Amino acid sequence: MKIAAIIVAAGRGTRAGGTLPKQWQMLRGQSVISHTFNALRPYVDEICVVLRPDDQERWEATGLTAAHVVYGGATRDASVRAGLDALAAQAPDRVLIHDAARPLVSGAIIQAVISALDTSRAAAPALTVTDALWTGENGLVNGTQNRDGLFRAQTPQGFHFSEIYQAHKDLTSPAADDVAVARAAGLDVAIIKGEERNLKITTKDDFEIANNMLGFDMDVRCGNGYDVHRFGDGDHVWLCGIKVPHGRSLQGHSDADVGMHAVTDAIYGALGMGDIGQHFPPTDPQWKGAQSHIFLRHAVALAEDNGYKVSNVDCTLVCEYPKIGPHQPAMKTALAAIMGIGADRISVKATTSERLGFTGREEGIAAIATATLVKS
Ligand code: MG
Repeated sequence: MKIAAIIVAAGRGTRAGGTLPKQWQMLRGQSVISHTFNALRPYVDEICVVLRPDDQERWEATGLTAAHVVYGGATRDASVRAGLDALAAQAPDRVLIHDAARPLVSGAIIQAVISALDTSRAAAPALTVTDALWTGENGLVNGTQNRDGLFRAQTPQGFHFSEIYQAHKDLTSPAADDVAVARAAGLDVAIIKGEERNLKITTKDDFEIANNMLGFDMDVRCGNGYDVHRFGDGDHVWLCGIKVPHGRSLQGHSDADVGMHAVTDAIYGALGMGDIGQHFPPTDPQWKGAQSHIFLRHAVALAEDNGYKVSNVDCTLVCEYPKIGPHQPAMKTALAAIMGIGADRISVKATTSERLGFTGREEGIAAIATATLVKS
């Protein structure tokens, strides 16, 4: 069974503000029509986009490829008819007709409309009216309207292709939408449960609402870090910001806080922005003996500069000695203070390596860390 979609984008509506019609305005870095196209694409075999001729360049700028790109007419009916004409040569079985200005249509609605056509001549999503309805004149309410049986119509509106094509050919007077065209031809239209999310972007406020709704698609990044420092002479080690007494010290250009270095590299990793060695070259004498909180603070600030906040970090220290357990709470508190996040978002764990390898032979300490960053 072949399913096609027509995206009707020939309108000039500029109520949303700006000089561009709403379907060409940007929403989270993509044009509204790009969101709409990408929402439909997984569920249909081909898409026909109906444009105004002077929007051809704007369409090409989206980089999208539609099976058919045709020019619409002066009315919505004429535009849909142009789309149906384009599809007719290799007619699909079913066709969805959708407003370009509904970019947040869900896969669930699209699939529900397509499935409803198994048993219905036509199907379309709608929402019941929950607000009270008034009539008014000159700024005053002059009556109330019974809302029983009233629905707010949405798209995509779905049809068997041959039936809606014939209905458009037979149309004698303008229709509000394709459901009206279908009904004029005697086709029953099943009502599918719509979604508030499937709003039609009409005003500037709608852009804000759509933008907020897209905000729920969180941008989450994860990075890992790994570091090793060798033991040398000394009487303490710095681990995750805490000075721990020990019979030996870790060697390194800085204070050799292996745990904090792993955490720092995990944050750089999540950002895709290098590592400590790149930001603080060991060849640069100014970092000799540096305290590692400088590195960690830099990574956290870099995350914030790029719009991310650190959601959590998890660090595992690998060593036989010193024993980490007694210092874990202080390490969490120290990292939390440096990073400016709650200690409940930080984990410091430790393991031995069963006396195996360089950590098992107590030649040094290794640390691995994971960091999660969330776009704020
Ligand atoms: Mg290091």
